[in-house]
Amino acid sequence: MRKNIGILLIILCCIGAIVLWLPSAQGSGISFRSFSQIAALIGIILLSINFILSTRLKFLEGFFGGLNQVYIIHHVVGITALLFLLVHPVLIAIYYWKISLAAAFDVIFPSPISGFATWFGMGALLTLILLLVLTLYVKLPYNLWKLTHKFMGIALILATIHVLFISSTVSNNYPLRYYILSFCTIGLISYLYRTLLGRFFVKRVRYKVDKIKIVENVTAIILFPLAKKLKYLPGQFIFIKFASLGITSEEHPFSLTSTPDEEVISIAAKSSGDYTETLKLLKEDSIATIEGPFGRFSFVEARRKKQIWIAGGIGITPFLSMAKSFTKDNGYEATLYYVVKVHKEAIFLSLLHQCSQNSPNLKVVPFYTKTAGHLTANIVAQDIPDFATHDIFICGPKPMMTSLRTQFNNLGVRNGHIFSEEFSLD
Ligand SMILES: Cc1cc2nc3c(=O)[nH]c(=O)nc-3n(C[C@H](O)[C@H](O)[C@H](O)COP(=O)(O)OP(=O)(O)OC[C@H]3O[C@@H](n4cnc5c(N)ncnc54)[C@H](O)[C@@H]3O)c2cc1C
Repeated sequence: MRKNIGILLIILCCIGAIVLWLPSAQGSGISFRSFSQIAALIGIILLSINFILSTRLKFLEGFFGGLNQVYIIHHVVGITALLFLLVHPVLIAIYYWKISLAAAFDVIFPSPISGFATWFGMGALLTLILLLVLTLYVKLPYNLWKLTHKFMGIALILATIHVLFISSTVSNNYPLRYYILSFCTIGLISYLYRTLLGRFFVKRVRYKVDKIKIVENVTAIILFPLAKKLKYLPGQFIFIKFASLGITSEEHPFSLTSTPDEEVISIAAKSSGDYTETLKLLKEDSIATIEGPFGRFSFVEARRKKQIWIAGGIGITPFLSMAKSFTKDNGYEATLYYVVKVHKEAIFLSLLHQCSQNSPNLKVVPFYTKTAGHLTANIVAQDIPDFATHDIFICGPKPMMTSLRTQFNNLGVRNGHIFSEEFSLD
């Protein structure tokens, strides 16, 4: 539902532009030119909105149901904006083609006399195409990909100059002009806030690495606050970066495994790539910079007090925080399935059993796929006959989450009662 509110707002912003554009279209009839103008208006609004979506501001989570959802929508909106902006010059070219081939050619390949506004428009489009091709089709290492994303703002700057100076409906329809320029301005402010001046504006807290423990391929890190303590809900995640020899200063998202009332915070990172592998080199006393908390994957966010929690592998981390926060008289009832291949991989099992002993309303069920096969919704339904009255939380590998969601849907559980946390933002 929350996700729909955000999407609805984006659609309304686009419709707003079309409504304001309509008076300019009166009398001129429907033509390729009209469609081209509408495509440009929608494209620039979506492009601007995409910068707002990338700010990680808290209110966005409310509109979309969590930061993961915001990033998914950001991805879709980016591609849609590009498509609309691509269609814009093509449709104008078709329109001019009827008048003269040279004029049509001039739209797609501006000449030195085309006017600087046209050049800026084309520059914006080429920048966007280049960056989106790099994002979608060239599998760049994450840090390089992030760097290319920083240049997206150039496309918005060029597009805004195009809107400001091009002679079109936007130059003489003032309500429309100010509407579009407001979006461009908010988009540019968002770009300044997050990307260019993020180090001054974005709120971050500093922690110091207290202890590091490596078990199997998981690095567990405990940190204590250097100043203000982070306030968060059990199950939420943070972006963290370390200043430590041998570790790049990239920020990465990790779920908190500690509880909000502890003085320290903790995370557990599984080696799954270059960065997480180097975390093993982390030294005690290193400084960590943290942004957050983010996410809505928390038992306290759900409406139903009876819950089923399903963790696959390292997907156990948000549940560790939730299980440790559970108290016997909190009014909740949860069954946690800890799904791993073999017992050896269930490295947090004894801690979870301890939580369950302290809070009998939390039941922990280890599930070993090597002997029992995949955990299915039917197995859960057999264990918990009134499963349909529960809210379901799932965190684990993407195929597992997708499959379980479909299986629960098939058993009649609506998506509104299934919460999932994906360990990827792209
Ligand atoms: C909300 C959330 C919570 C997470 N919690 C945990 C956790 O508790 N424990 C854990 O082990 N892992 C967690 N992850 C996953 C963890 O962030 C990635 O495994 C890690 O960033 C991978 O980096 P890498 O360089 O080692 O691997 P790579 O092979 O370089 O990256 C693998 C994938 O991880 C993602 N990724 C890489 N770098 C970043 C980055 N800087 N920011 C965002 N995504 C990135 C990309 O999707 C990439 O394709 C979480 C991810 C998210 C989104």
